Amino acid sequence: MERIGIYGGSYNPPHIGHIRAARYGMEALSLSKMLIIPSCVSPHKQADVSPDGSYRMKMLELSFAGIEGVIISDIELARGGVSYTADTLAQLRKQYPDAELILFMGDDMYQNLHQWYRVDDIISTASVAVFCRNTKEIAPIPGAKVYELENPVTEISSSDLRRMLVFGCASAFLQPDVEAYIRSQGLYDTNRSFKALPLEELKEAVCALVKKKRVPHILGCYEEAMKLAHFYGADETDAKRAALLHDITKALDGPHQLTLLEEYGIIPDNFSKENPKTIHAFTGSLVAERIFGENERVCSAIAWHTTGKENMSLLEKIIYIADYIEPTRDFPGVDDLRRAAYEDINKALQMGLEMTLSHLQKQGGDISPNSQAALVYLKNNS
Ligand code: FE
Ligand code: FE
Repeated sequence: MERIGIYGGSYNPPHIGHIRAARYGMEALSLSKMLIIPSCVSPHKQADVSPDGSYRMKMLELSFAGIEGVIISDIELARGGVSYTADTLAQLRKQYPDAELILFMGDDMYQNLHQWYRVDDIISTASVAVFCRNTKEIAPIPGAKVYELENPVTEISSSDLRRMLVFGCASAFLQPDVEAYIRSQGLYDTNRSFKALPLEELKEAVCALVKKKRVPHILGCYEEAMKLAHFYGADETDAKRAALLHDITKALDGPHQLTLLEEYGIIPDNFSKENPKTIHAFTGSLVAERIFGENERVCSAIAWHTTGKENMSLLEKIIYIADYIEPTRDFPGVDDLRRAAYEDINKALQMGLEMTLSHLQKQGGDISPNSQAALVYLKNNS
């Protein structure tokens, strides 16, 4: 019997992970065809930015160009509305009455398959092939024929990919013609200049680029940095801009932080390689400089907001402290730190560094040599 794969998604944008998974699935299950189906309106997730279906069709055609057996299908875009898999399968069953239809999905999707719209119609029409990311066994669904496949999927989410496009470090994840097409059409804000944005526009741009759950922290840090700058007579504009941008790359996980450095032509030091989560301060300062065109003072304050360093500038101290005590922070000792921040900033800085170090010691985490140097410097100069 002919076997036909069905691999749907929002493909927003399609990336090399999709290409690898499709190739692997075709090979593993000896498919004669693989239908790649971009959804019109996904019932599962709503992206904030979704280019028109015609753009996603074009990106898919470029992604899969030359791969034999792959068909980019506009069946869901042509139908319009919410793209229910049950409807798509009913249509495909008519088109291919005798084939085994195999629906591909990741294990995260499979976990909720029993809740999908008209799941009984889905599993009576098609088999299911699951890309298993976790080694955990997947739970069977009564009546469903399920193929378990190893996971060849590249770990990148579409939202991180869209961020990386803006930061200029997405090339490793996109088929080159697709990236060229995205940039030529200015999709995902790639034609926008983020340089020297007025403050309100900067605030909006940052809030759109970070994870939603981080927005209150960023805005809290902004308020606190403004207050501290005013209190100590530092440049308030620099303080506001540095606070807004200080966690701009924090959404990227460790490996993607390293990808950014690689794309920027920067070799990370050993501490960064071993503690890739600490790199967001450094990558944030690079993005602030290259993408947002911020000045050296602002970039440096971003670079040192996590570890501190010896002989910090007033702005660097302000951002370090603001990040620590902004109004949404809640940890034992935060009120003492808040009080100290408006009495003696050096004392507050020392307290903050000591708290971080003792926390890391308890957790068995590596301590940055820069934090140690910062403390030694403060003690010698107080
Ligand atoms: Fe941070
Ligand atoms: Fe932060």
